[in-house]
Amino acid sequence: MATPFNRKPVNLLCSDDLDSQNFQTAQEAIEELATLADVKLEIRKAPSETAKILLDAGRKAGRKGQLNAHQMLRQLAEKLVAEQTTIPRYDVLLTEADLYAPGLNFLFGVGQPLIGFVFSFHRFKQLPTKKWAQETAKTVIMHEMGHVFNLPIRAELTEENLGTHCLNKCLMRQGLSLNAMQKIAKDRVKGYVLCQLCQEDLIRHFWKKS
Ligand SMILES: [Zn+2]
Ligand SMILES: [Zn+2]
Repeated sequence: MATPFNRKPVNLLCSDDLDSQNFQTAQEAIEELATLADVKLEIRKAPSETAKILLDAGRKAGRKGQLNAHQMLRQLAEKLVAEQTTIPRYDVLLTEADLYAPGLNFLFGVGQPLIGFVFSFHRFKQLPTKKWAQETAKTVIMHEMGHVFNLPIRAELTEENLGTHCLNKCLMRQGLSLNAMQKIAKDRVKGYVLCQLCQEDLIRHFWKKS
């Protein structure tokens, strides 16, 4: 028998200029991922005040045209983890502004297992069609949420490459460029969503064996 575990609502913290289609894409991405473990999570839009504080911190620590994603993740962890303990939830910060982190030209997103992640839709606008911009962004959101759900947690068929990643044809594999992520998105649309091992890891996150 397995009992439900880790069922926390997902708070979407949105920048004021967030496109409504992008908001919907994020919501669908998280829903679809949870569904793979037969789980339904409440996904809700958080009041914009906290998003504003985190984005300002990223801007202050940032550089021209880009927000410092590590600074925002640090702020998210510092400000929200105490709140997460009293009001259990995962926190996701969504923005249209470009992100980077020291040592990297840009980032799609960055997260912390069990806590949440920071994500930008900015880079996907470079893709030739709106369809692939949406599908690729959706794939990366599923990937980042996967890390929040502790994927992949096993040692088998994984690599350490800016975090633990899957080596199978699976959306938890590492993609460091827009082209690489679009390839993972194309595979996802063809049906290669999570490999069997990552799906088992996801189920392990939400169902405690008793
Ligand atoms: Zn990753
Ligand atoms: Zn996998």
